[in-house]
Amino acid sequence: MQILKTPQDIQSQCRKWRDDGASVALVPTMGYYHAGHMDLMRHARTLADKLVVSLFVNPAQFGPGEDLAAYPRDSERDAAIARDLGVDALFTPTPEVMYAPDHATWVAVPDLARGLCGAARPVHFRGVCTVVLKLFMLTSPDVAVFGRKDWQQLAIIRRMARDLNLPVRIEGRPTVREEDGLALSSRNVYMTPEERAQAPEIRNGLLLAREMVRRGERRVPLLTQAVLHRWAEHLPLGRPDYLSVVHPESLEPLDAVGDAALMACAVRMGKARLIDNILLTA
Ligand code: AMP
Repeated sequence: MQILKTPQDIQSQCRKWRDDGASVALVPTMGYYHAGHMDLMRHARTLADKLVVSLFVNPAQFGPGEDLAAYPRDSERDAAIARDLGVDALFTPTPEVMYAPDHATWVAVPDLARGLCGAARPVHFRGVCTVVLKLFMLTSPDVAVFGRKDWQQLAIIRRMARDLNLPVRIEGRPTVREEDGLALSSRNVYMTPEERAQAPEIRNGLLLAREMVRRGERRVPLLTQAVLHRWAEHLPLGRPDYLSVVHPESLEPLDAVGDAALMACAVRMGKARLIDNILLTA
């Protein structure tokens, strides 16, 4: 596995591969690998001749006062995991080589970035889109793989790729969870043992909503009330940031569950802000 640190190096390597007729898959990450990242890499490995993984804690997607400095990092362990999974090139740039001091160009999908996580994190998705487009320009991937845990991010990237005619296929992968149902996240390490013990209740609330839909309930206010009620009882250390039911593609809020509906949430648990989602109609 090559470890490449500059935009020039990754771009010329990927160009060489493409000139030789090889296809390229890309998995963008911020590191501190868990089984969710590993699933993305394993899957992407099967999709193309060459697998590129980027490991970059992207400052542009953190707002003021967010956890950029505290974000967990372990680049040696990450590199060993990537190597074991058959990654061909690990791209590990610094912020300085990715963003010129007078960087001034941004890509955004405002209609999809206003609600859900975008409400509390107004610059987050603009930072995500910009870095992902930069990674696409550097690696020219045939396919790029993202996790559905970050559903809004995946929807926004799909829309960006479609709207800008990017020649890349976007694949989404199911959320990988702990045995107790908690979605794996690099940020789970922020929790105290007490918070960690309650955190699976986030998922249990979403499962309750899906079960209510299965039994015929369609009214969104009743579904969200039931989840919030359950959380108040079983998740006293959690502070819900939002709990919404939206159309899975447009991310428009729904009053009633129709053919396609996604329930998505963010819950603050001490220092951690955890997100999760569930398709209510799957
Ligand atoms: P991150 O390093 O947190 O930015 O995540 C990198 C990629 O891994 C994103 O596409 C995430 O959606 C995906 N990812 C994060 N957590 C999970 C998970 N528990 N299951 C599946 N994919 C995940």
